[in-house]
Amino acid sequence: MDLKTVTFFLTDKCNAACDVCCFKCNPQNDFVMDMDVIKRYIDEAADMGTVELICFTGGECMLYPELIKEAASYAKTRYGLPSSLVSNGFWALDLGRGSELMQELKEAGLSTVRISADNYHQEFVPVSSVKNAISILAKLGMLSEVTIMDTKSRANIKSMLARLRPEIYFAPKVTYYTLHLPGIVKDKMPCEELEMPVMWDAAYCMDSGSVQLYTDGYMYNCCSQFSFEIPHMRVGKIGETTLAQALNKINRDPILDLLRRDSVTWFARKAKESGYPVRERYTTSCELCRDILCNEELMAKLYPLAEEEVRRLRMERFMSI
Ligand code: SF4
Ligand code: SF4
Repeated sequence: MDLKTVTFFLTDKCNAACDVCCFKCNPQNDFVMDMDVIKRYIDEAADMGTVELICFTGGECMLYPELIKEAASYAKTRYGLPSSLVSNGFWALDLGRGSELMQELKEAGLSTVRISADNYHQEFVPVSSVKNAISILAKLGMLSEVTIMDTKSRANIKSMLARLRPEIYFAPKVTYYTLHLPGIVKDKMPCEELEMPVMWDAAYCMDSGSVQLYTDGYMYNCCSQFSFEIPHMRVGKIGETTLAQALNKINRDPILDLLRRDSVTWFARKAKESGYPVRERYTTSCELCRDILCNEELMAKLYPLAEEEVRRLRMERFMSI
């Protein structure tokens, strides 16, 4: 696997404290990633020659616009690397100031912004602010998408679309997703709120060739919010491990290799065969992945089987060349 994206979780602080936050962010948290660390890994990302995008997220990284400006500018001016960020749009409450701020970030090198909105976020961020953010970003050609999370009782999708009209029509893409379980969600949300759209035998790994530099000081294998709760997904320590070493670990680890090659269903099938109670349905494939990979006893049984399966798949591929 080539590394395509490096994601920096710049902070765990947020102006909001949503009941649906996968990362337990809130205004009291105070981690902010060091600029030297950011630059070091941008250097390494550029050296690899395969990285196409630098992502900034949090928390709410727009609480630190100067940090983003410097990091985006470093990636763009030094290496021509585009960067993107994820935000809840709080910074656009004042249309004029929001426009100026985003214009400055664009000039510094920031390419695109993804906006998160739903009825949980909007307990903390006024809808008018999100609408302003959408229109500012659309005007600047920087809006990549608006994501809306849904639960059963709040009927987010319909009501959020109505609340975001007419600005939502400027969004090039609107992505809906069902409520996930990691972070604070599992403590706050009753099970009745969860949709379970993924059958165990249709689960797939959405890993897309990325490494995440998370706020707990570790580097993770994949872009799922669940990965930070799966110790096996740790592929290095920020400041000690190079991106090349992290990628090497991803490519050589039989569990991570098999997840990408043969998806999550191989693990679910083997888990079932060994008597583990795999549920019929999950909120996402990644929840099933966490369910299995976080069970040490089960993984002790599956590890040698995974090694054997990877050897078999590699041989099969070699023979077909
Ligand atoms: S806005 Fe996003 S990062 Fe902030 S608390 Fe809500 S879900 Fe978490
Ligand atoms: S299935 Fe597992 S490895 Fe793949 S993206 Fe989800 S958590 Fe990551």
